[in-house]
This record gives sequence, C-alpha cells and structure tokens, in this order.
Amino acid sequence: MYSTYEQPEFDVHDPAEIRRVIYEAYCNGKEAAANGRAADYIPELAKADPGDFGICVMGAEGDPIVFGEVEKRFSIQSISKVINLAAALKFLGFRETFSHVGMEPTGDAFNSILKLDTVSDLPFNPMINAGAIQIAGMLSNVMDFGELLDFARAFCMDDGIALNEAVYRSESETGDRNRAIVYLLKSKGVLQGDPEKTLDLYFRMCSLNVNARSLAQMGLLLACDGQNPFTGRHIVHPGYIRTIKSLMFTCGMYDESGEYGVRVGIPSKSGVGGGIAGTVGHRFGIGVYGPALNKKGNSAGGIAALEHLSHLLKLNAFS
Ligand code: GLU
Repeated sequence: MYSTYEQPEFDVHDPAEIRRVIYEAYCNGKEAAANGRAADYIPELAKADPGDFGICVMGAEGDPIVFGEVEKRFSIQSISKVINLAAALKFLGFRETFSHVGMEPTGDAFNSILKLDTVSDLPFNPMINAGAIQIAGMLSNVMDFGELLDFARAFCMDDGIALNEAVYRSESETGDRNRAIVYLLKSKGVLQGDPEKTLDLYFRMCSLNVNARSLAQMGLLLACDGQNPFTGRHIVHPGYIRTIKSLMFTCGMYDESGEYGVRVGIPSKSGVGGGIAGTVGHRFGIGVYGPALNKKGNSAGGIAALEHLSHLLKLNAFS
C-alpha cells in the first residue's frame, strides 16, 4: 500500500505546485479506493459508494482546494473522538480528563476489549472506542447531545452538521461490542456516567453528518491553535490543541498509527465512514472522504492521497 517517492525538486510552497500535487493525490486516492471496501458491520455504512473519493485542503487565507466528492455528507464515526476529547479538555480540564483515560497507543483494533479486561482498568487512550466511551460518560454528566453538537459545529466551523438518524439507529441496534465495553467499564467501577446515557451520546456523536470540507475545517482549527481564523473566535485553548494533536499522531489511525506516522507523519484521525481529518503544522487542514477501507479500517484512498501529499509537499511533522 505504501510506496516511496523521489524528493521533490519544485518549490513546495508555490500555490500552483501545491494545487498540482493535490490533484495528483486525488487521482492516486481515487485509484487506490479500488483496493478497499466499505464497512458493513454497521449495516447503514454498507450503503456507501466505494468508488466515491474527495479531498479538501484548506488554509486560513484563500479558497480551499477541492477535488471530487467534497460536499457529500457521511457519518463522522471515530473522528468524533477528537471532538469528544476537545470538549472534555475544554469543559472538564486536563487533569480530570486524564484521571479517567490514558494516553498510550494500544496496537490493537479500535474496538478491542482485550487490554481493557486484562491489562488496565482505565482505557488506554481517547482515540479507541473504550476511551471515547469513557469520555462520553464524563461528558454526559455535564452536557447533553444538543450542547455537544453545538460544540462540534464550532469545532468543525460547519453549522450544517446534523445527526444522521439512519446511521444512529443502525449503530444503536447493532453496537453490542460497544455495549460490552460500557458494561465492562461499569463492572470495573471506572465508568463515570450512566451506561445507557453514555452509549447514546457516543453513538450520536459517531452519527454526525460531515463532509470532506468540514473535516478540513476541523484540521484547520487545530492548525490555528483552536481559533476560528475566519471569525477570530477561540474554540479550544492552544495548550489543549497540542494534547489533541499528539494523541492524533500516536493513536489516530487505529492499529496502523505507527506505520502511518512514519510514512505520512501528519496528525490525523480516521473513521470507518471513510473520513480522515489531518492537520498540518500552523498551515492547513486536510479532509478526505473515501468509504472504501483497507484491512485496518482506514480509507484506502485517503491513505494513498495523504502519503502522496506528505512526500511531495514535505508535510511530515519531522521534515
Ligand atoms: N461507531 C463506530 C464504532 O463504535 C466507530 C468506529 C470507527 O469509526 O472507528 O464501532
């Protein structure tokens, strides 16, 4: 899946070159999508068109650069874990948040119960299901879904975000593994909220309808240290943004986070709906939609496109 590239000979900050490389990344992503398939363990997700692919790159000045399916709405799925973490940090603080969830990658699948049962009573990190459910439990004590939705809209700079009812129903009807996680947390005495209320908030947040543009905007807000660059409004404190980006880097791409970190090196979070949100230094946000997933649950086209962008534009955090 991953390949290596020659180092570029052009000016990686030249807008025309940036546009050309983004177009190439789009073409690579569209082609690589043929190697993946849409998630079907949540029945509603299986209805996605695996041939869809779109990319949006957005900086604080100028128009976004977009190719392909960037307006189509799809469910945010695990990318909501970034929003939940940001809300927990903002409304509960760093110390309280990390009293109940860890900061370590697991190397296990996103919905694994293994280490939660055998290694640690607290979930390893907020980017896996167990950690995000734990955070949803904490949030359920201080805010309702409507308030968290308002926060999600501000965090993605997109007032069009709404609940996808069909996905929400599909998730709650089939989410037995997540039900197992919430009750395992309860049995250990570490769950912070009521189990059913916690799960409901978690499922609703996974079912928010976003598009590649909203994900690029989320990445841009992170690149702008938590400030909306268009309105000047501060959404999340810059210190918390550092924490969020670090966890995206180490844990954001499921059990592919290590390899993705080496080969792409952009703090990112993916979801099984086919989205990836990436954030590049203090420069721009990247949003991708490609519902054909690879074996690890990441958008096959998204990974190909982001790898191309990273190499050609030298976007690796350690470049
Ligand atoms: N709602 C999905 C689940 O909990 C999210 C999975 C994902 O995107 O990683 O299984």
